[in-house]
Amino acid sequence: TERTLSIIKPDATGRNLTGKINAKFEDAGLRIVAQKRLQLTKAQAGEFYKVHAERPFFDELTTFMASGPVVAQVLEGEGAIAKNREVMGATNPADAESGTIRAEFAESVGENSVHGSDAPDTAKEEIAFFFSELEIV
Ligand code: ATP
Ligand code: MG
Repeated sequence: TERTLSIIKPDATGRNLTGKINAKFEDAGLRIVAQKRLQLTKAQAGEFYKVHAERPFFDELTTFMASGPVVAQVLEGEGAIAKNREVMGATNPADAESGTIRAEFAESVGENSVHGSDAPDTAKEEIAFFFSELEIV
């Protein structure tokens, strides 16, 4: 089995959607093996999203990610990285397939409700950003 890092973003926690989003993961066969709610500082959001530091939306992205609570979680399952990205839907909710989290809940390309790791190496790094091995069960 594989693990991936998921974040329920501030637009979604603000609209009280954590349970509905978690149900989508569980319905897809992904198991939530670690989960915590926290508020990132803008500096921490910038560290997490440092691959996007040179992108024009970096300031908007990090301000948004620090604007309210997030729920960081580790999802586990067969092909969890790809499966999670399938359940999330396209980055821009306008392009997301119906039934996906972003099609149902996201408000815009910036405020798009969830993050998911995109490859095994980034999943490993992103999981370690939030969790120790002891916290993943
Ligand atoms: P994530 O990494 O959050 O799972 P993603 O992999 O679908 O999303 P990326 O290209 O990695 O998309 O972009 C990271 C995040 O940056 C997006 O989820 C979105 O919140 C934000 N973002 C991407 N493109 C834009 C844009 N054009 N304008 C504003 N924000 C954007
Ligand atoms: Mg990404």
